[in-house]
Amino acid sequence: MAQHAGYGRWVYNWGLRMWMESYRSGLKPTANKLKKFFTNHVKPKYPWMSELSSKVYQYAFINLGDAYERFFKGLAEYPKFKKKYHHDSFTLDDGGGERLIKIGGYKHKLPFIGWVETWEELPEYQVKKVTISRQAGDWYLSFAIELPDAPPTETHPPNPPPGRGEGTVGVDLGVLALATLSTGQVFPNPKPLRFAIKKLGRLQHDMLRKVTGSNNYKKASLLVARLHRRVANIRADYLHKLTTFLAKNHSQIALEDLNVSGMLSNHKLARAIADCGFGEFRRQLEYKCQRYGSELVIVDRYYPSSQLCSNCGHQQKMPLSERVYHCPDCGMILDRDLNAAINLSKTSGSGGLACGVGAADSPL
Ligand SMILES: [Zn+2]
Repeated sequence: MAQHAGYGRWVYNWGLRMWMESYRSGLKPTANKLKKFFTNHVKPKYPWMSELSSKVYQYAFINLGDAYERFFKGLAEYPKFKKKYHHDSFTLDDGGGERLIKIGGYKHKLPFIGWVETWEELPEYQVKKVTISRQAGDWYLSFAIELPDAPPTETHPPNPPPGRGEGTVGVDLGVLALATLSTGQVFPNPKPLRFAIKKLGRLQHDMLRKVTGSNNYKKASLLVARLHRRVANIRADYLHKLTTFLAKNHSQIALEDLNVSGMLSNHKLARAIADCGFGEFRRQLEYKCQRYGSELVIVDRYYPSSQLCSNCGHQQKMPLSERVYHCPDCGMILDRDLNAAINLSKTSGSGGLACGVGAADSPL
């Protein structure tokens, strides 16, 4: 598997280099043109390539083409060269319906690789292609399966019609608490995540005291990589629970259009924000709202949600260090994030204060 991943990386990096060079000399490269050239003129020069699955290099070109397409559409940065041990992965397929892939139970058959075992038992699936990737020293299988359309929303409690107010929730995303809802519910950054991040700092410190490249260094860096994986898994799990809870239980969700890239230039906040995964938060809410029939309202990023008094509309400057809103006009005293969340809930057109979502249980 490491050989196949290395093959995929070699080809991807070759393609990327060729793409940049041919672009510089005035040509218009495509993944297909490069693949043809590679098949006819490059691959024959490297006998070791013919000992590995040819699917690997075909998918390397497909992935390269996709990476450029995402870049041209403005969805991603310019493709980067792949590094060894860094997101090692490769893709194999069933050879166009030959059913070379068998997934089910604890043992699975992969084309070219043979039988592999997983820790987790899997149902029997008919799989067209499978991507094998390495994370922190362990190998993972990932694949897509086809399922019949999900039943319509009857299985979920019907959402109240929009505009009644009680279904509308304002969500303030923050750094101290991940999310504060206009209902008063607060979703702190999960404890296991905070512990893991603390421990990560310690392990990284240990690693740096070892001689680079030594066996002890490798051992320490594997521990760091494993903990990184754990942090990512906790975060992904937490975000999914939070976004599902929001989309399933509210007819309208008002969220601030956070200028994440702009905020990332503020170095003090950068780390904490990247950790919360705001971009991912919004992406999940978008598709889950569609799934559960609720509406996502994105509030203009210049709307001063933290500066306004949610009770009387007074506006004042609120530096980030100011955790509580004190209104000089009406005397309201309220947590800064809650005040912002209530303001957001009011922008969605229903006018009223969002407060009646009691039926929903916290997912966490
Ligand atoms: Zn006020």
